[in-house]
Amino acid sequence: LNERHKQLLKLERDNKKEITAAILYLLLKRSPSTRLQLMAAVPSLTKTIRKAVEELQQRSRRQATADSLEEGEEPVEDPPTKARETLVAKAARGIAIALVTYTALRTDEEPFQQALDGALDDIDPRVRRLATTETFTAYNSQWRANLQDSPGEFVWDAILDKRTCPRCEALHGKSWPTVSAAPACPAHVSCRCILNFEPAS
Ligand SMILES: [Zn+2]
Ligand SMILES: [Zn+2]
Repeated sequence: LNERHKQLLKLERDNKKEITAAILYLLLKRSPSTRLQLMAAVPSLTKTIRKAVEELQQRSRRQATADSLEEGEEPVEDPPTKARETLVAKAARGIAIALVTYTALRTDEEPFQQALDGALDDIDPRVRRLATTETFTAYNSQWRANLQDSPGEFVWDAILDKRTCPRCEALHGKSWPTVSAAPACPAHVSCRCILNFEPAS
């Protein structure tokens, strides 16, 4: 793993923790004690998750800019697109609804509070997926924007571990002469690939 990937994996973990903390904080504030009260909290839960994701996107963009400054590049404005915002809004609402659903399923057998705690564990993979996807999407988008016109080689860099899919593994090490010639990176939801830059000598 190179330094950029190490930093990004740390950022991914921190971002996931931040989203989870935001959800817990909101639940503590609203302290729902029935399924109806929890259902009523869905809009504010959605908003809380969206806000946490906006903050993590900013952290990822700052990281990308810090990394590209080392290549001597000037940062450019790269706010999330409308399409991205829509995806995040949908994912945030999906997580809030899943929390309600899992809690409802568990209340058949457990008291409400216990059911809610269990449901928080149930949504963990979704929170992780959102954190991973948005961390790497915001990072790669900003990094690409900063390096747009740089002459050199853009080399696909996948993390080769048990979470890596065959498609990303096959792209690992491939290179392109411009950033726009390279395929979309990240390649899919939960993808942790980046493009490394090797300046033309
Ligand atoms: Zn993949
Ligand atoms: Zn990938």
